[in-house]
Parts: sequence; C-alpha cells; structure tokens
Amino acid sequence: MTTVAITQTRTTCPYCGVGCGVAITRQDTDVLPVAGDKHHPSNFGRLCVKGSNLHDTLDLDGRLLYPSVNGERVDWDTALDTVANQLRSVIAEHGPGAVAIYAAGQMLTEDYYAVNKLMKGFIGSGNLDTNSRLCMASAVASYKRAFGSDTVPGCYEDLEQADLLIITGSNAAWAHPILFQRMTAAKKANPDLKVIVVDPRRTATCDLADLHLAIRPGSDAFLFNALLGYMDAQNALDTDFINQHTEGSDELLANIRSQWQGIEAAAAQLDVSAEDLTTCLEWFKARPRTVTFYSQGINQSSSGTDKGNAIINLHLATGRIGKPGACPFSITGQPNAMGGREVGGLANQLAAHMDFADADRDRVQRFWNAPNLVQGPGLKAVDLFNAIKAGDIKFVWIISTNPLVSMPDADDVRAALQACDMVVVSDNMGNTDTALLADVLLPAAGWGEKNGTVTNSERRISRQRGFLPSPGEARADWWIISQIGRRLGYESAFDWQHPAEVFDEYARLTGFENNGSRDLDLSGLAGMSQEKYDRMLPVQWPVNAQYPQGRQRFFEDGRFFTPSGKARFINVTPALPVSRSNDGPLIMNTGRVRDHWHTMTRTAKSSKLAQHIREPYLDIHPQDAERFGIQEGQLARVFNSRGDILVRAHITSDQRTGEVFVPMHWTDRYASKGRMGALIDKTNDPISGQPELKFTGVSVEPF
Ligand code: SF4
Repeated sequence: MTTVAITQTRTTCPYCGVGCGVAITRQDTDVLPVAGDKHHPSNFGRLCVKGSNLHDTLDLDGRLLYPSVNGERVDWDTALDTVANQLRSVIAEHGPGAVAIYAAGQMLTEDYYAVNKLMKGFIGSGNLDTNSRLCMASAVASYKRAFGSDTVPGCYEDLEQADLLIITGSNAAWAHPILFQRMTAAKKANPDLKVIVVDPRRTATCDLADLHLAIRPGSDAFLFNALLGYMDAQNALDTDFINQHTEGSDELLANIRSQWQGIEAAAAQLDVSAEDLTTCLEWFKARPRTVTFYSQGINQSSSGTDKGNAIINLHLATGRIGKPGACPFSITGQPNAMGGREVGGLANQLAAHMDFADADRDRVQRFWNAPNLVQGPGLKAVDLFNAIKAGDIKFVWIISTNPLVSMPDADDVRAALQACDMVVVSDNMGNTDTALLADVLLPAAGWGEKNGTVTNSERRISRQRGFLPSPGEARADWWIISQIGRRLGYESAFDWQHPAEVFDEYARLTGFENNGSRDLDLSGLAGMSQEKYDRMLPVQWPVNAQYPQGRQRFFEDGRFFTPSGKARFINVTPALPVSRSNDGPLIMNTGRVRDHWHTMTRTAKSSKLAQHIREPYLDIHPQDAERFGIQEGQLARVFNSRGDILVRAHITSDQRTGEVFVPMHWTDRYASKGRMGALIDKTNDPISGQPELKFTGVSVEPF
C-alpha cells in the first residue's frame, strides 16, 4: 500500500496589504487548493478570490531559472562577479551617487533590510527607492509630520468598533476585499454603523455606503477641512485633547475659520449637493467612533501629504485617535510596503524608522559598523529614473518590480534603462517588460519558496514560509544581496546563513539605544532561534518589554513621538490636482480591478482570475461616449502627448462626466498597447515624491 505524505504550512498571502494568513496543504508534491488560515488574526480564515486561487499561480511558465549576462546563461559566480565588478568600477569612477537600486513592496522584510544595509551603509548611496513610492509615500510623510513618526495608529478591529466609517480614495471591495468583508459583517452586526464612501466614481465599495459623495477629483482635503470647519462652528471640537496633546491649533483653526464659508460654499467646492454634505457633517458630529479609511485616491496626488494631514488634523481636533473605533487609517497596497518602510526602504529614510539626523546616523553607523554610511537622502523614484536618463546614474539594480509598466511616463523609463550602462534585474519572472531590458538577470525565489516576514496595514508582522523548493537556480533575494556585499569586501557584515539571522539583526537594530523615543521596537523578537523564528506567530509591533505580546493601538496615552510629545497640526490649504488641460479634455483615473495584481505576472497565470475581466477597459460616461463617438464594447484609443493605449469601451454612469477610468494592470505582454503608465505625467507631491497617478488629461477616439 502506498502512503501519501500530507504536509501543512501556514504562510501569508503575497498580494495586498491586508496580509491574510494562508493555509497550505501538500499531498506528496502536489499543492492542494489553498485555504484561509483560521488562526490568523487579520483574516480569521477568509480569503478573497485572488488569495483563494494562489495554487493556480505556482507553475514555472515564464519563470527566470538561471542567471544570465547579456543574454547568455552563466553560473551564479559569474553573474555576481559581473555585478560586483561593475558596481566597484562605477563607484570608483563616478562615486556612489552614480549607483541606484529600485526595489519593491513585494520583497520580504529580510530582503529589504539586507538591500538597505548594503546601499546606505556600505555602498554609501541614498539612491535606494522602491515602488512603495507609488503606493503610500504620502501617508508616511503625513504621519511623520503629525506624529513625529510613521505610526499607523489603529488596527482592523477598529473597523468593527466604529459607528462611522469614512472610506475615501479606496475601492476596498476590490483592492482590499477581506477588510471590506469585515466592514460588511460589522454593518450587518450593527445596523447603526454608517458608511460614507468618498470617491468620484461609483465603485463596488459604494454597495456598502449609506452615503456616496462623488466629489470633484482630488478635492478630498476640501472635504476634511470642511468637516473641521463645521465641527469648529458647532463648538464640537475636543478642546481638552487639543490643549493637552497637540500643538499648532491656533494657526490651524485661524486658517480653517478663514476657509469655512458654510455648507453651500463647501458643497460647491466639492461638487456635491448641500443636502448630501449636510448628512455627512451631521453623521460625523453625532458619531465620535470614526475611522477614516484611505488609500491611493488620497496618496497618489500632487498634494497627497496635505490630504493625509487634513484627515489627521480632523481626527486630532475631535479626539478621534487612540480609542477603539476611532483613528485615521491608511491602508497599504502591497503585501510588505509596511515592512519596507520599517527597515528604511525609501530614499528619504535611513533604517528602522530612523532618518538622517546626526544622532540617527551615528547610531546606525555604529550598529552596522558601516564604513560608508550615507550622508543624506537619495533620489525618489521619479527623480531617480530621470537621473538615469540624464546619465548621472550609470548602474541600476531593479528588484521584484516592473517600472516599465507602473511608473508614470513609462516610455521615458524605458528610454532611461536603455541609456544606462548596466541594468541588473532580479526577479522570479524572466519575461517582464523590465526584465527584457536587463544586462544581467538574477533568478529570485518566489512566493511559496522563500522564507521571511511581511508587515500588513495594521502593523502585524507575519511569516511567509516556503513550502516548495526553488526551481532551477533561483535564490532568495537576501542571499543574492549578501553575496554582492561580500564581493565588495564586506564579508562579516553580510555573512548571514538564514533569514532568521537577518531578522534578528533587524530586530536588534530597532531596539538599539531605543529608550521609547522611537515607535518601532522589536527588541522582544530579537535573539530567536531558527526554530522559534520558524514558529513565529503574527504579532503587531512594537514587541518589547512594555508590549511583549504586541500593541493593538498607539496614542491611547496621548503621547506622540515629536520632541514635545504632542501631535502637530499641519496647516493645510487644500489644492486641486495640477491642471492637465493641455493633455486632453478628459481626466483619466486609474486603479485596480478585483482579480488582478500589479502587472499581472502572477494573476495572469490563473484562468479563473482571468475570467472576471479579460482585457483592459475604459469606463466612460454616456454623455462623453456620445461626444467622442464611442460605442459600448468597441475598442477605443486613449491618448495624449506621451502615448496611446487601446482599451475596450464600457459606457457607464458610474463615472462622472469629463472623467474616465482605466485599470492599471495590463502590460503590452497581455494586451497590445495596454500600459496606461505610458500616458501619465511625472507630476508628483513635492513633499512625498508620490506621483499623481489618478489625474491625467487624455483624449479618446474610436479605434
Ligand atoms: Fe490576499 Fe489581500 Fe485577498 Fe487577503 S485580501 S487574500 S491579502 S489579496
């Protein structure tokens, strides 16, 4: 009789920032259909359709299996020597500023930590930026301005404890489905819970809304300042909280009072009815347990940081923070954008929530024993690719991301990479638009093969665990990075043998000379054995002597991480998006669809996921369709001075007139002329550097 070997693994979904636990069962070598991990406190066994079909995406089609240099297969030593030699030569001739790395929120925290240490401590360049710049850089900047730290104050349970949910700039039903399911269940359990969805489009998320405010695109800060103006006019601010725990209220309130001209005027600014706005204002006033849930519609804007601060100002001024069911809550797009920003995976961060102040630099230099600690911030994503095109950066290493599709003005990114002396790409796929331009290709282990941790949107650190062998010669990113570090002469700094050792070093850095002045402290997780790391359960940081089991909420004590310990009000004067009238008569918005992920390198493998939406499309209002001669279901050309795409027209009054929507995922591999990134301008938020991906002028015509 043959025995069947059953093995089970608990891991974390590789898609969105909800960070759901996934239960894997293997029968001999076969991976059975995946299930949600019932014990994971972020999803309690639920999975959305993307997560449920993960087992469909594990084939080797398109996988990058072997290293190559200039198109020729080579062994690992040759590939790594080629990269290290070129790095050494560029640094010697042009300095470390001529080197760049562009990484991704797909990487595990251990990978992110390793690459940040290599670049900022040993190469000595700050030009390490990531696709998180496209995702939540504005949320980070606004938290830091207000709290003195990049601290997400709340937790998912707050969504269930609130009596008002304001969902703004987020199609949560499609982009963060399990959180949307939790909100739906909360509303069912508490019919008194009101949900306001703020979005120019009518999306699937509006199905849960008691009120949908289809505001003028980009006018979010006008709304949150109006809420603050109204609460002030009604004497409904929390003056005790303001007086005890904040600073800057006099300036803020003077500014807000000069802006508040009453409901009719605010409604006109927002392009909504005075009646709907009144409902919103009254519900807010009557429901102190408010969560404002926001995502890319806030962040991907030329004033994304200010929008985040307008939301935070409102929560601070009404004392709606640090309490159950009350917080501003930015939700990250990617599985580990949070982990990336924790280790320092943005060009304007150093490491472990430390910046470039002298004390931080000194502390990190001593901890790493770093010979070339970077002096200050490097170039953010848009500027980084501009510098490559200008010839100022001569070596770029792109890890686990596809900027030829996702970056604004994506054809300019192509031109930049074509002009660069050496482009290194490490990825688990060998056929991405970006990989096709690489001089050196390094095969990376993928989800299900690699081991490490990710942090989700509620600060919960979860293990990703491997359950499959890596195919071909694919290796973990942290290993590839450490091999380059060793070849540059830094053997002892990069002598890790297992991701548990990388995590341990990172955890120790967070606790190093941390006397409570920094929010991120994982000292309670330092010193774990490999076995303990393998068994590690999901936990919300910080994990230290004070919070050995993690911390659900921050700021219950009214203490913030600014020098004074008080939260800072930021004086926000709302601004509409930068005008693109020269680019075309319609405004193009972009975003996710339910069943695809990023540039589809994984989700396109699943025939089930492909069934939901088969091709890129254009949502267009009936009046605009008539004006531009577009018929339902026909191919439409969407174009401006930067390029054009071909998409299937879908006529719908879910769009406002003058505005169209195109999904972000399709590349030229999956649909001829599907890359919407080629149309988008490089305008970005001057504070966060986050591009304005949701407001592009375009024209349309039948194809
Ligand atoms: Fe994965 Fe996000 Fe779906 Fe959860 S909600 S299963 S993390 S894609």
